[in-house]
Amino acid sequence: MLRTVLELPSIREVPLLREQYRSLTGLMPVMYGAILSVVALLVLTFHATTPIWLNTYAPGALAVVVIIRGARWLRARSGVDDATPDAMLRACKTTVVLGTVLSFGFSLIGLFLMQYGEPAQQTLAILLIWVLAIVSGFCLYSVPSAAIGVVVAATLPLSVGFALDDHPIISNLAPVFLLVTILVTYVIREIYSNFASVVRASQVIAANEARSTHLAYHDALTGLPNRLLLAERLERALDCARREGMAFAVHCIDLDQFKEVNDRFGHEAGDDLIRRTSFMLASVCGPFDTLARLGGDEFALVQWGATQESAATLADELIALLRAPIQISAGRVSVGCSVGVSLVEDGKLDGVECLRRSDLALYAAKDKGRGRYVFFNSEMDNASRDRFKIRDELREALERDGVSLVYQPQVDNGVLYGVEALARWKHPELGDISPGVFVSIAEESELILTLGEFVMRRAFEDSRLLHGLTVAVNISAAQIRDDGFLCTLRALMEETAVDPTRIELEITEGLLLSEDPRTLAVLQEARAMGFRIALDDFGTGYSSLSYLQRYPIDKIKIDRSFVATLGLEGGADAIVGAIIRLARALRLDVIAEGVETEAQRVRLAAVGCGHIQGYLFGRPMPLRHFEQLLGESPAQLVAAAASA
Ligand code: C2E
Ligand code: CA
Ligand code: CA
Repeated sequence: MLRTVLELPSIREVPLLREQYRSLTGLMPVMYGAILSVVALLVLTFHATTPIWLNTYAPGALAVVVIIRGARWLRARSGVDDATPDAMLRACKTTVVLGTVLSFGFSLIGLFLMQYGEPAQQTLAILLIWVLAIVSGFCLYSVPSAAIGVVVAATLPLSVGFALDDHPIISNLAPVFLLVTILVTYVIREIYSNFASVVRASQVIAANEARSTHLAYHDALTGLPNRLLLAERLERALDCARREGMAFAVHCIDLDQFKEVNDRFGHEAGDDLIRRTSFMLASVCGPFDTLARLGGDEFALVQWGATQESAATLADELIALLRAPIQISAGRVSVGCSVGVSLVEDGKLDGVECLRRSDLALYAAKDKGRGRYVFFNSEMDNASRDRFKIRDELREALERDGVSLVYQPQVDNGVLYGVEALARWKHPELGDISPGVFVSIAEESELILTLGEFVMRRAFEDSRLLHGLTVAVNISAAQIRDDGFLCTLRALMEETAVDPTRIELEITEGLLLSEDPRTLAVLQEARAMGFRIALDDFGTGYSSLSYLQRYPIDKIKIDRSFVATLGLEGGADAIVGAIIRLARALRLDVIAEGVETEAQRVRLAAVGCGHIQGYLFGRPMPLRHFEQLLGESPAQLVAAAASA
């Protein structure tokens, strides 16, 4: 019975136990300090009027217990992170029992004092002991059983004593004591459930982080390293080439007839073919080579210690290997492959450049009729000038207002409350170019600062026409890292007379990853100016509880990839629920993006996420649509936004 009332922490939840233990060791000195002050006050107040056993010996004995225990806790503080679950559990249990016994002891002293002291002294003593129990209760909130046990153990005997007292005022105090106690225990329980939900949510996120790190570095179908891991390996190879002068080759391999197999036998056969090819390619790799899948039917192989001859031999071998028919579940198929090779001899390049060169060579190999390999040469570079051309054209477009903004509605339980500004560019020859493409081209140079300033200026100006709506603006990491960012922000604020509290700056987790103190300072300053900060694409890779606590963030945007799998087998329901609990505990706003279906909206609402952005409520649209909408009632607004 006592066990269930005290509800001892369960050892199965080690992270929760550790947090409880950590918070106990942190707060214990406060609690012990409070107990010792009460003991001193009791002794001083009563030493002349009451028996010595009551005013000195009994509180003294309790104080000795406190001092011995306190010394132990102080020692334990240094080893909090190394404590075993067993030791933590024992310490928590002792605190539960000891805290309750001490409070009960003090409350008995209070009852005896009621018989001896003057009325004023009695009231003081009892208030002291009662307040002490409440303070101790709050120090113990991380173990709710201890907190509640302490408060109840002190209050119940005192209230009974009061109720039985002849004095009318004192006897009337009994129900007040009980009421306040009920309130305090309720508050402690609330604080605890908040505490526990932060700990649990951070666990779910940590687990997800580990999983996503593996997923982030490996291809799900073949288990081979993916582009990201390949980039890291390439950096290492380049480092080696620089320090030890060792050359290496990068082979880009593309299956020639993959599409035909996929179309003829279906996706499953296609996947099967990719898996088998990956085994075959791996079989010719040396022990230090890296084989990665770049996506689709494209692979890359980093060959260590290569020469022109050995790279050519390996490329030949790869082509011969895949020229032979391959047995897949759907039958025997012939695919063949083309290979582009770049030889890296001095380490002056970077990883992206190595891959780009092999890729250019691969295109040349395909151009020449497939089933062959081609080495990179500098003439192939002309093609890559296209990217520079696009960059120049984007610069021009920005000068003559060729880039525009569209706004996507954000709704709160169906009511429009904000928009996200998204950049659009219609290229004179190529047509609409996705911001995913032109923003990344701009990010390769200072042009991102021009683009970023353009977007901010336009969005700030437009926000004045979007009466009452918040306007979210995407900010690239390069903008925040630029020394002039705060100046630009301040100047734009004055120029456009925008109300900064209605602007949300959307940043991504990647920016926070570098843990640059300047980033923190810039974000703090922007927030001090009144801007709100939102963390975009939350959960896609590095989501960590520590960013949310360390950086001044007002809102998190749950990434589209989570929303897309809601309700599916192995879907993201649990993680989305955890993110929302976490956000609530840290008092952050949450919005889910990419909501396309009513079913997704219902699931999000069920876990408490009413803020939503996505095609279900409206696609990104020009400002004038909103100007028309803003005169209308909220219901019409939503209907109109949804049909836009
Ligand atoms: P983002 O910030 O995550 O923006 C949301 C993207 O999701 C937008 O794509 C939007 O059109 C799309 N989207 C919204 N609702 C749905 C939905 O229900 N389903 C699907 N499938 N997609 C939805 P968009 O406009 O192509 O922008 C792509 C990315 O380009 C943005 O991702 C953002 O990272 C970047 N971007 C766009 N405009 C700017 C800008 O002005 N500055 C910077 N730095 N980046 C920008
Ligand atoms: Ca965004
Ligand atoms: Ca996003």
